[in-house]
Amino acid sequence: MLTDAPPRKSHLAGFQESERINTLDLPDDASLPAIAKSIESAMRAEEIAGTRRACAEFLKAASHFYQVPECNVRVLAVRPLRTREQWTTELFGDYTPETIVMRVWMRTAVRKEITSFGTFLSTLCHEFCHHLDYQKFGFKDSWHTRGFYERAAVLYHHARGTPPKRLFWVPMSGGRWRIDWQRTTRGEG
Ligand SMILES: [Zn+2]
Repeated sequence: MLTDAPPRKSHLAGFQESERINTLDLPDDASLPAIAKSIESAMRAEEIAGTRRACAEFLKAASHFYQVPECNVRVLAVRPLRTREQWTTELFGDYTPETIVMRVWMRTAVRKEITSFGTFLSTLCHEFCHHLDYQKFGFKDSWHTRGFYERAAVLYHHARGTPPKRLFWVPMSGGRWRIDWQRTTRGEG
């Protein structure tokens, strides 16, 4: 995971705000983890309609909790050839703020292998965080800042029922950062 470079000056304040907000409030019940389990079952059975229903239920519950308009979701069998994302990191989904539609796909384009549940759920949370950026935080754009990835990870670990991990970052050129996966996985301080 690689962060976006800081934008031009007119958007810099929003970018810095996105960078700063590194956590999310979470529901204090187990509704999202329970719905995530039903996404997993539907994926196991390779049922696209069932996966879509469970994803829609997940997003409805999450939108209700964060008090934002619901976003629509389309679950595709295979990654479309044309995607909105200019971000090469975004292999499994996209989000269009103008229509508030999220798309996630179950198979990778090249090898046609089914996406793992963990990756799929992580994508769903990632795209939902784009939705929150526009609808909850009111950002003009939804940048992949360190804060963005941390918010998405907080939501993902809650939904997956796994302990949150501290993310470690390595500075890159141009004001960008990448995740240090080794340190993040080891969880060292
Ligand atoms: Zn993204």
